[in-house]
Amino acid sequence: MLVPVTEMVKKARAEHYAVAHININNLEWTKAALQTAEELKAPIILGVSEGAGKYMGGFKVVADMVKALEESMGITVPVALHLDHGTYEGAKACIEAGFSSVMFDGSHYPIEENVEKLKELVATCHAKGMSIEAEVGSIGGEEDGVVGQGECADPEECKRIADLGVDILAAGIGNIHGKYPENWAGLSFETLDAIQAKVGDMPLVLHGGSGIPEDMIKKAISLGVAKINVNTECQLAFAAATREYIEAGKDQQGKGYDPRKLLAPGTEAIKATIKEKMELFGCIGKAE
Ligand SMILES: [Zn+2]
Repeated sequence: MLVPVTEMVKKARAEHYAVAHININNLEWTKAALQTAEELKAPIILGVSEGAGKYMGGFKVVADMVKALEESMGITVPVALHLDHGTYEGAKACIEAGFSSVMFDGSHYPIEENVEKLKELVATCHAKGMSIEAEVGSIGGEEDGVVGQGECADPEECKRIADLGVDILAAGIGNIHGKYPENWAGLSFETLDAIQAKVGDMPLVLHGGSGIPEDMIKKAISLGVAKINVNTECQLAFAAATREYIEAGKDQQGKGYDPRKLLAPGTEAIKATIKEKMELFGCIGKAE
């Protein structure tokens, strides 16, 4: 049974660790994430972007796949299936498809329109026992590699959005998506502190968790971050392990071309990356 992120992140916020949000891209990715979470007795949030949802055949396919795997793999740890950076239409589609959580990224709308749409989605999600994440300001990056510093959210605006009843809040604190550029200025703990002072116990989300130095991650957790999104690092680990397999000519030995063999090293690399992240986030054993 899929659960909303609400209880997971509240507990994490109170006990000073963060739940790993792992973006999934296919069956192997999903199995790797679920297996690792179960082995380490950690709660897990499976994130699905709209693009990844489309790639996998649609949100209904994703929701049914995750539910079926959870059952057939005998998963006992809490699992949330969460739409990552959803549009208004995408969020509605995921609510219908059986997700347990959505993020509404209305950062490109004028604030009033963002608030109106968010209010409606909060009511719909809560009526269905789902959780909802909102974003304040916008999180920079998008793999362009040219930004030195991601955007920082306005703490007043964070308070306004938090008061709409969202379960978890993503606010830019200098973090960015994709690979971090050489000249990145680091996270703004001043901003994080100011946001925390305004929103109180509201669990916060750190997007673009791939490539942020460990000490910064730990400090962010101590200041209220309870969910950290990891995507790029799993992709890089998968690609590197697959490249190594092919460059070693293993796909040309015996039945090395069999996708079950070809994708195995990459899948193991995803598991190792998730384990590393869970150790850093402090969420291991927290599902017990
Ligand atoms: Zn994000």
